[in-house]
Amino acid sequence: MAQLVLKNVYKRYDNTEKKLFGKKKAQNDFAVKDLSFECPDNSFIGILGPSGCGKSTTLRMIAGLEAITSGSIFIDNVRINDLLPKDRNIGLAFEDYALYPPLSVYDNLAFNLRAKKAPSDAIKTAIDRVAPLLKVDELLDMKPSALSGGQKQRVNIARAIVRQPGLLLLDEPLSHLDGKMRQTLRQEIKRMHREIQCTTIIVTHDQIEAMSLADVIIIMKDGALQQMGTPLEVYDSPANEFVAGFIGEPPMNLLRSVIVKRDGGFFFSFEGSDLLVKVPERSLPLVSDGQNITLGVRPVDVLITESDTSTPVPVAVYENFGDERRVSVRVGQEYLNITTTENVVYAHGDIIRLDFNSEKTHLFDPESGEAIR
Ligand code: ADP
Repeated sequence: MAQLVLKNVYKRYDNTEKKLFGKKKAQNDFAVKDLSFECPDNSFIGILGPSGCGKSTTLRMIAGLEAITSGSIFIDNVRINDLLPKDRNIGLAFEDYALYPPLSVYDNLAFNLRAKKAPSDAIKTAIDRVAPLLKVDELLDMKPSALSGGQKQRVNIARAIVRQPGLLLLDEPLSHLDGKMRQTLRQEIKRMHREIQCTTIIVTHDQIEAMSLADVIIIMKDGALQQMGTPLEVYDSPANEFVAGFIGEPPMNLLRSVIVKRDGGFFFSFEGSDLLVKVPERSLPLVSDGQNITLGVRPVDVLITESDTSTPVPVAVYENFGDERRVSVRVGQEYLNITTTENVVYAHGDIIRLDFNSEKTHLFDPESGEAIR
């Protein structure tokens, strides 16, 4: 187990060029910008964000595979910026399995311990402990070429934890696997983390993976931290429009609106639409007449109602997914998505009425994208 702290970490890849509109342009952007966070002992942290946001760079800096441009990384209060990877007590499992093809699974698992001149009975004890956790105990005599993708990734992760590292770093470990295998291995990684008591960081672009595995999620965009919180916090209280749109499937609706005052009450209004949505009581202190606001509401928090007090809107798209139905309606220039488990059937153009779960609406500043609370 180990505690990991990043303080104001920056990374710039020097001497790199990228092609921009056919011209080569020096890339001066930071791949990681002013990143600070803390992972307590034995925590499970997910680093989540779209491709290119700096997740792998962050992990590689923690592992010592990439130099840090500025800032500090501490493991158990020791600044490790200049420590070699082998001296950081870290276990690593990347997306590609990188197993040694001529060696058996047992010998792959034993490789690093043998390199450290561990006695063979200690190696056997370590492998006997780890192999059942990842269900590779039946595979020990096999060569990597005989294994499925899922089995290779189990061996890859088992190899990373066999040395009992203080910190386990997993970079997109499930992204090569098919849907069912991903789910099975996800559950096994979770069980394994409980058993081995090792601070673990998983890098992923898949919000389901991050939400289901991690105690705390770090969401990144363009090299910068957007929000750090428990899965519930980032889902229920997104810090900005980016997090709101990134977490949740289908994503949160983000509608440009103008506040209007009608009959003594305040409403969200939408350009090109008659729909008016009452501003909830708790948000009244945050709004004023004529203010531009982005209204965020998750598809599950828009309810289809029989009440004739709300504005009628025509159905644009109806989809039946078996366990849920998705309905999309046009609100001015934008579409509003609704998810329901009610057994409704609609055709294009059918008129429905909507009610917003006022406890679950979110307000964002349209300029900065930051949540207004
Ligand atoms: P992610 O893991 O979130 O997909 P990366 O950390 O791989 O993102 O990349 C972050 C940024 O750094 C991207 O713009 C990427 O093009 C750039 N980058 C990554 N590795 C290198 C490298 N070795 N040399 C130059 N630029 C790199």
